[in-house]
Amino acid sequence: MTCKPTIIPSPEDVDTAALREKYHLERERRLRSEGQAQYVRPSGGAVADYAADPHMPVTPREPVFEDLDVVVVGAGFGGILAAHHLAKQGVSGFRNIDTAGDFGGVWYWNRYPGIQCDNDAYCYLPLLEETGFMPSKKFSDGAEIQAYCRMLAEKYGFADKALFHTQITALRWDAASKRWLVETNRGDKLRARFVIMAAGVLNMPKLPAIPGIDSFRGKLFHSARWDYAYTGGAYDDPMLRKLADKRVAIVGTGATAIQAVPHLARYAGCLFVIQRTPSTVDERPNPPTDSEWAQSLKPGWQQQRMANFHRAAMEMFAPGEPDLICDIWTEIARNMAAEFDARGWPETPEAFMAQRENMDYRVMERLRARVAEMVEDPATAEALKPWYRHLCKRPLSSDDFYPAFNRSNVELIDVSATKGVERMTERGFVANGIEYPVDCMIFASGFEVTSDLERRWGIDTVEGRDGVSIYDHWRHGPLTFHGTMTHGFPNQFYIGYIQGGLNASVTEQFGRQGEHIAHIVRHALDRGASVVEPAREAMDEYVRVFNEGQIDMSEYQMSCPPGYFNNEGELNAPWALFRSWGQGWDAFQAMLAEWRAKGDLEGMELSQ
Ligand code: NDP
Repeated sequence: MTCKPTIIPSPEDVDTAALREKYHLERERRLRSEGQAQYVRPSGGAVADYAADPHMPVTPREPVFEDLDVVVVGAGFGGILAAHHLAKQGVSGFRNIDTAGDFGGVWYWNRYPGIQCDNDAYCYLPLLEETGFMPSKKFSDGAEIQAYCRMLAEKYGFADKALFHTQITALRWDAASKRWLVETNRGDKLRARFVIMAAGVLNMPKLPAIPGIDSFRGKLFHSARWDYAYTGGAYDDPMLRKLADKRVAIVGTGATAIQAVPHLARYAGCLFVIQRTPSTVDERPNPPTDSEWAQSLKPGWQQQRMANFHRAAMEMFAPGEPDLICDIWTEIARNMAAEFDARGWPETPEAFMAQRENMDYRVMERLRARVAEMVEDPATAEALKPWYRHLCKRPLSSDDFYPAFNRSNVELIDVSATKGVERMTERGFVANGIEYPVDCMIFASGFEVTSDLERRWGIDTVEGRDGVSIYDHWRHGPLTFHGTMTHGFPNQFYIGYIQGGLNASVTEQFGRQGEHIAHIVRHALDRGASVVEPAREAMDEYVRVFNEGQIDMSEYQMSCPPGYFNNEGELNAPWALFRSWGQGWDAFQAMLAEWRAKGDLEGMELSQ
């Protein structure tokens, strides 16, 4: 099927200078001097138990005392893919450990009504060719993905080994035994040759430090801990009937809120949608998987599709390559390719970038026009229009979000003037000087993605050689070799967005990292090495090359409002989601493949 370019204004119809200026202003309006410090770890009142598991009861178990080859921290896609690659390399003495009650990571925790993946499922769900599984539609439901996570763990034989509802409290490298000593809140004491840190990217719910949040006396929960006991309905049947007589507010208009709002609007007596920055929300055709198409796929199709997605969404669309994904993620590349094919490709990188910027404005104009078409009240429509570059925030799609604002029980509350919810009281929230009494506040306020590492890992103690804390070691940002290991923390590996290549698909990113780590573990075991770690000089050299290769994104950033994509607007934050290998994903993978092929773990120090 050929994927057509979208209908957008012509190049001359956008006033680039005016839009650039408007984007800057919209950013400035929302920028907060505290940056990431605007979010807090809640301590008391209605938010004290915000992280507790509403989905599964914690069942008692005996503590585990064991020697293992590997402890895998996390049982979401990062941990599952690491485990899969360990198993593939013949390493079986490992356990996944997770605070959740089952496999799935974000797909375990996030069970809010309407949850679906926003990415093409044929790319997002890993290992489809190996498992023979085919997603039921283009954007999978959350439940399908969570079930797939468990299926992977069962198929590859590590489902029964995981320790769930278990928080690691300490990880200490013991030089004498050459093992990591692992302690948990369940009294476990494990000794592991290796540890793989795969805690995830969206694992830690974040809450804004709204003055008075602790004083609120109503019901309050985070979207990643949806309380169906309160709202009515269930994960597989989200009829929120208990909200019929309730006044409900939802904070946020990101990926989560876009999906939950239509359900809340349908059931709540009254719904306030509290918005600081609007999202881009395109149409969402979500057809069931065409079985004829699925049967026609040739071996290697998923890797090809993922590469196609990555190139269109994050790099430059290859001339002549068809757009296999055909959604909001790939629209800019698709449109550009069509225009360039018709009028000729730009001859210089500068000309390309200028036309890309122009295309970005035109696509955003189309998306803004969509709001005006779908939302009846002009003032509400105006407030819902996004004013920033296309990938400043995650591009979203929904056919139900905008129509929700045409209902008489739904009100948009724009809090951009106060850079967020102004205040909370015992009875509700205050916005633009007005108190809104509510029964329930739902925080779809996102996750800590680039905050201090100790907040995100939630592990009190992580000590490498000589008792050095990794939190001190990385106080000013990560120092790694290939984004995989760091000197001074032998036998410890990292999965996530950390000083390596960046892929548009998080599961592809995690999978490749797991594969690379499993290679090193296998190699070390085969050579009878008890200890493997990067040499100091090799790590320093890698960090130097990594930093030198950085592409200056500051101008682009200035057209983006704050959010988790850009460290809440902090320009030089120690942790930055998209600080990645400057020459791109393919070049990074090629470098690692060459390094592995040499077979000597160059740059690593191995000892008995
Ligand atoms: P986001 O971080 O995307 O959104 C959080 C929302 O809360 C934003 O609208 C933010 O506004 C708002 N907010 C934060 N603080 C305040 C405040 N003080 N006052 C008012 N509003 C505030 O979180 P989500 O949970 O929506 O999504 C996070 C990520 O999780 C997604 O980007 C995606 O990667 C993943 N996800 C994927 C889904 C999928 O595939 N379907 C579904 C859900 C999540 P502002 O923008 O101004 O900061």
